Amino acid sequence: MKKDTKYVASGRKKEWTRGAVNPAVARASTVIFDSVEQMKQATQHREGKTLFYGRRGTSTAFAFQDAMNELEGGVGCALYPSGTAAISGALLSFLKAGDHLLMVDSVYEPTRDLCDKLLSRYGIETTYYDPMVGADIETMIQPNTKVIYLESPGSITLEVQDVPAITKVAKSHGIMTMLDNTWASPVNFQPFELGIDVSIQAATKYIVGHSDVMLGTATTTAEYWDQLREHSYLMGQCTSPDDLYLALRGVRTLGVRMRQHQQNALAVAHWLAKRNDVDHVRHPALATCPGHEFFTRDFQGSNGLFSFVLKQGTQAGIDAMLNEMEHFKIGFSWGGFESLILGHMPDHVAHLRSVTQWQAKGPLIRLHIGLEDVDDLIGDLDAGLARLNAHL
Ligand SMILES: *Cc1c(COP(=O)(O)O)cnc(C)c1O
Repeated sequence: MKKDTKYVASGRKKEWTRGAVNPAVARASTVIFDSVEQMKQATQHREGKTLFYGRRGTSTAFAFQDAMNELEGGVGCALYPSGTAAISGALLSFLKAGDHLLMVDSVYEPTRDLCDKLLSRYGIETTYYDPMVGADIETMIQPNTKVIYLESPGSITLEVQDVPAITKVAKSHGIMTMLDNTWASPVNFQPFELGIDVSIQAATKYIVGHSDVMLGTATTTAEYWDQLREHSYLMGQCTSPDDLYLALRGVRTLGVRMRQHQQNALAVAHWLAKRNDVDHVRHPALATCPGHEFFTRDFQGSNGLFSFVLKQGTQAGIDAMLNEMEHFKIGFSWGGFESLILGHMPDHVAHLRSVTQWQAKGPLIRLHIGLEDVDDLIGDLDAGLARLNAHL
């Protein structure tokens, strides 16, 4: 089955849809059994897709899990109430006191905070590594290294990692790998084909696609599924069927949305790259992005999220630009149908990393390019940059 067919067909077994096009929203805490015997049987099969208790999931969850497994190519998918909960859930399912974690330096800020503020309290030691490390990750492995965690491209600065080089080293040392695959979504990167053991999605972003649900997933292989499922269950993780229904609705249009986000963002990125006030564009599909060669080799496409670095600028200039934008809204998150903008002075970007240096002199602007007409977006940015440049 080709990808576009999968977005339409996945998770739509008759068992979940009961004959309608879409799966029903099955809300439940308690599940009623016909007999003591039936309850006993459900208890024996509680790790499967049988109704047992609401926390284990209902048919709406089973439909979404089927869809995520089909899209990412895993055998099991654990569900979490946010992407951040998926990250902590996956890490805490496999790490214990005395273990060592190798964490990419360009990681999503809350993941860094989890390592520094929470995992450290449980005796789990984190070492950060340069996103461009590649096979040299081998020199950082300790006898107690348990997990190598990747995020590619990185948050804010978009460095693309050499994933197969890292997973090859990890496998030769019996170390498991986890990847935050949110940027690519299941559309543009196949983590298991490149040796990753756990693929994490902030489904909040492109899978839901409409900025109205918080949701996370961790999908894994046969080797790790039992432990991930059981440990996530022990931590009490569960999700709302209403949210899962919306996520499944998002899956249906994921392919077409991604293509349009990609097309619009590339138009804006190429327009920015030609400007004299722009130092460089950090879009994985452009040669000015670190790791561009790995993007070309390993990804099937891009999306709406990228950054660019200006030659110069002030905080007052960023404020003047952002406050008066017409189509770009100021806000966290991304992956919805709408365009968003954030601006950071270089010291803020530098503060998000600990073992690599941020060299840029000018501000970094991060854009999420939505589904608006690209001419309107470029006009908005052109006027915004004029406001920023008036404050040099
Ligand atoms: C947003 C984001 C997350 C966290 O997702 P939430 O659902 O907001 O908790 C994790 N990783 C990346 C790369 C993200 O952009």
